[in-house]
Order: sequence, then C-alpha cells, then structure tokens
Amino acid sequence: MERSVSEPLAAGELPDREIHAICQRCGKWFEQTGGRLVPPETKTTFLFRIGGGGSPYRFQCDRCSRRRRATKGGIWAVFLGLVGMILILEKLGLIK
Ligand SMILES: [Zn+2]
Repeated sequence: MERSVSEPLAAGELPDREIHAICQRCGKWFEQTGGRLVPPETKTTFLFRIGGGGSPYRFQCDRCSRRRRATKGGIWAVFLGLVGMILILEKLGLIK
C-alpha cells in the first residue's frame, strides 16, 4: 500500500515520537515514512536545538522536500535562461 503524499497529523491527534517526526519546514507532525532526513536549515536550527536531539539532520516531510526541489529547479531555469541570453547577445555581436 502506498500513499502519494503523506498527510500531517490532525490538530487533535497526539504525535508518537516512535512513529512520528516533526517537519523542520512546516512544523507539522508526519509519520517518519512520509519524509526524509535533511541537513537543517540555518534559520530553524536554533529552535530545534532547544528541543534537544544530537543528530545534525532534521526531518522534512515529502511536501516540503518537493517544494524545495521545485525552488531549485526555478533557480536553474533562470540561470540557464541568462546563459542562453548571453550566448544570443554574443552571437548578435552586442557583447565582445
Ligand atoms: Zn513539511
């Protein structure tokens, strides 16, 4: 059985630390299978340090991971677009 996107715990549900992990991005509880461990993001690291835990890696749900990947893709698209523009300008003889 496979779910495409794992759903966060409902507000009333109590998380079980054995099964669930809190997402470093959206701060919701997910089953540990519904995400992955990623290096902490600097702005949130401090907050989660207070919560304890020695691992430098933090849980991040699939949804946030997907969003992060999409952002990276966007940056690449912009970068390639710029490179393409420069090449075109060079061809036109506008840049030497
Ligand atoms: Zn999340």
